[in-house]
Parts: sequence; structure tokens; C-alpha cells
Amino acid sequence: MTGRLVIVGAGQAGFALAAKVRAIGDLRPITIVGAEESLPYQRPPLTKKYLLGEMAFDRLLFRPEHWYADNNVEIRLSTWVEQIKRAAKQVIMQDGSALDYETLALTTGATPRRLPPAVGGTLEGVYVARDKRDADQLAAEMRAGRRVLIIGGGYIGLEAAAVARHRGLEVTLIEMADRILQRVAAKETADIMRVIHREHDVVIREKTGLKQLIGKNGHVVAAELSDGSTIDVDFVIVGIGVAPNDRLAKEAGLEVGNGIIVDSLARTSDPSIFAAGDCAELPWNGGRIRLESVQNAVDQAEAAAAIIAGGEAAYDPKPWFWSDQYDVKLQIAGFNLGYDETLLRPGSREGAASVWYFKQGRFIAVDAINDAKAYVTGKKLLETGINPAKSALADPATDLKQLLA
Ligand SMILES: Cc1cc2nc3c(=O)[nH]c(=O)nc-3n(C[C@H](O)[C@H](O)[C@H](O)COP(=O)(O)OP(=O)(O)OC[C@H]3O[C@@H](n4cnc5c(N)ncnc54)[C@H](O)[C@@H]3O)c2cc1C
Repeated sequence: MTGRLVIVGAGQAGFALAAKVRAIGDLRPITIVGAEESLPYQRPPLTKKYLLGEMAFDRLLFRPEHWYADNNVEIRLSTWVEQIKRAAKQVIMQDGSALDYETLALTTGATPRRLPPAVGGTLEGVYVARDKRDADQLAAEMRAGRRVLIIGGGYIGLEAAAVARHRGLEVTLIEMADRILQRVAAKETADIMRVIHREHDVVIREKTGLKQLIGKNGHVVAAELSDGSTIDVDFVIVGIGVAPNDRLAKEAGLEVGNGIIVDSLARTSDPSIFAAGDCAELPWNGGRIRLESVQNAVDQAEAAAAIIAGGEAAYDPKPWFWSDQYDVKLQIAGFNLGYDETLLRPGSREGAASVWYFKQGRFIAVDAINDAKAYVTGKKLLETGINPAKSALADPATDLKQLLA
């Protein structure tokens, strides 16, 4: 009988990996060890419908509890893995107990960056948004008329801003960079999203950083900004990015860069240890990337599962992503890394548009704003390797379907 597969991290990738191993028909013993107290659940709604109170937590679970017993997948929750002993092929829990593995998968995700204590990062009322506990704490703060400061104009910050406005809060969002979405999207996309947020009365202040948070009796009450101004706040949401959870791997002597380094078969530098999801850095177009998305967590974990079960197919990322803000659906296909040209195409109905990214003349990604047709077309173009003519794309009269012919 094949030995135990131990999966560290009971999140999106950890669950997908276990489920795929079973779907393939591989019956080896599996144990998932997860630090959180909940069964594996999807995170995207935490800053969308769950935070709005429109989705019960049960609906976030990938599977109900009995699925794990039915599929002979042992799951240990509220359990932190402290160490990997590679020579002994064991993982060591926080309570000192050991678990033997034949194959180990690290799906430990990422941890949100926090503000340092010196600028008030440890005051009460300062939150991040990564897990259910964060979302529950935030939901309790979201009461009409309260004032929230959101630090960081990435997707997490913008989604939180949309929820806060929906709940009737006064929202100020600061972004230290020249513009919101600087790291992830083109100026055209940022311009559209900025207008939408301003129409919803979010105060967006770009090129504005935080000097420090000011506390009273241990709770945040105000924020001093880099332009010298001070604003009163009731609570703060920090959305300034995440760092991969690669400490276990690093301490075990595995190769680590911006995350746990894996090859296209999701293998780390130890052949019996795999890694997938937000914690892994993988090969991409001759370089390396780390992706933070559901698509990557699932597809990479499933590829790892197939390899573990004896297959050979390499993981070739086909990135896609989405973000919901107000009634706006932003859908992204491809990965815009290194783009040198963009093209803005108006959509066929009001409020719809798409931004197409090119690198050295090749189409590499599209941001579709309330424009499902642009998203689907972009995704298909990437899958089929067709490079659309820019002139045709730029012409609003072109039916996108023609580009696929
Ligand atoms: C609020 C929010 C909104 C998002 N919205 C979107 C979206 O709209 N679209 C999209 O594509 N992606 C979105 N994402 C990103 C997506 O959810 C992540 O990319 C995905 O969850 C990554 O899966 P993962 O399994 O790698 O990590 P996670 O799902 O974070 O799971 C990792 C798990 O490992 C556990 N763990 C870590 N270290 C240990 C240890 N030593 N011992 C035991 N357990 C450990 C952690 O506690 C965690 O439960 C969002 C993320 C967040 C937080």
C-alpha cells in the first residue's frame, strides 16, 4: 500500500489536492492539517457577499464534514505544523506530536502584510482580510455612519470599500503609489475603477501614504497621512499585499525565493515534497512567478495531485481572476506581466469596457469590466494562441467572435 500523503494547509489548494487524488481513484491514506478551525472554505466571498451578510458561511465550505469521512480523508483542524523533519519524513505539530508522511504537500497560502507596531499597527480596530475570523470582525464593524480608512488600493482594499459603502459607512481609501491597482492592472482599468468608486462616494487619495495611526485607550481613533493631514477614523482595513507562508519550507532547507520554489510538476527541491497555491513560486515564460488566485491554487494543486498519483502532465498556468465591486464584475484572463502596450475597447452596453494587454505585439491578457464577451473572447484567444489584430480590436464595430475565426 502506498504511504501517507500529508497536506499542510487546509485551504483552497489543500482541499483541491486531496479531492483530485481521490477523484483519480488513488486510495492512499491522506491527512490534511490546517491551522484554522473551519473546514476548507473559499476566501473570495470574504470581501464580497459574505462580508455583506448575503452569504452564509456554510455556503463557503467546499464540502460538508461528511465528505472527508466518506472519502477517507483525515482532516485535523486548529492544528499548526511547526516543523518538517525531512530525514525522518515527519511533520511536527505545535504540541510536539509527529505525523509520518511518504509524500508531503505544502499548501500553506500567504499571510497579509500588517502595519508595524511603531505606526499603530497593533492598535485595536486595525484589521486585515484573509480568513473567516477577519471577515467576522470586519462585518461587526460595518455599521452605517462609521468611518473606515482603507490602506491600499488593490483588489482587497477596493472590494472592502465597495462593501463598506453598501453598508453606509464613510470610506477613505489611501494608496501610496501614483494610482490604485498599480501592481496588477493598467492605468485604463484603474481610471475606470476610480470613477466607479468616486461615484459611490469613496474618497480615494492616491500618492498618499500613512504616517501613523493615532490611538486612544489602545483603540485607533485617527490617522496621520503623508501629506500632513489627519483624519478621524473608527477602524482601519489594511490591504497592502501578502507574503507567502514559506517558513516551514525554508527551515527544512528547501529552495525558497518569493515563495517555495517548485518546478512545472509542482515539485520542490525535495522529490517527496510538493507545493501549490499562494505559497509556491513556479516557472513562467522563462522566469518565475507567484500567483495569488483561485485558478492557480486549484489548477496547480490538481496538477500536483495527478503527479502524486503517478501522472506526468506539467502545470501550464492559464491565469484568470475576478473581482466584484458594487454591481461591477471585473474579470481578468491572462497575466499582464511585462506588458508594453494597452488598448481600451468600449463595451457594447453602458458601463462595459475592456482593456487589452500586449507584450512585444503579442496579446497576453484582458481586463473585462462588466463585459463577459470580452472576457470569454480573451480567454479563448489565449487558449488557442490566436493573436488578434489590434486594428480590429480597436474598432468598436468589430464583433469579438470574428477574432476567433
Ligand atoms: C479576501 C480575499 C478575497 C479574494 N478574492 C479573490 C477573487 O476574487 N478571485 C481569486 O481568484 N482569488 C481571490 N483571492 C485569492 C484566493 O482566495 C487565494 O489565492 C487562495 O485562497 C489561495 O489558496 P491557498 O490554498 O494557496 O491558500 P489559502 O486558501 O490561504 O490556504 C492556506 C491555509 O494554510 C494554513 N496554514 C498555513 N501555514 C500552516 C501551518 N504551518 N500549519 C497548518 N496550517 C497552515 C492557513 O491557515 C490557511 O488556512 C482572495 C483572497 C482573499 C483573502
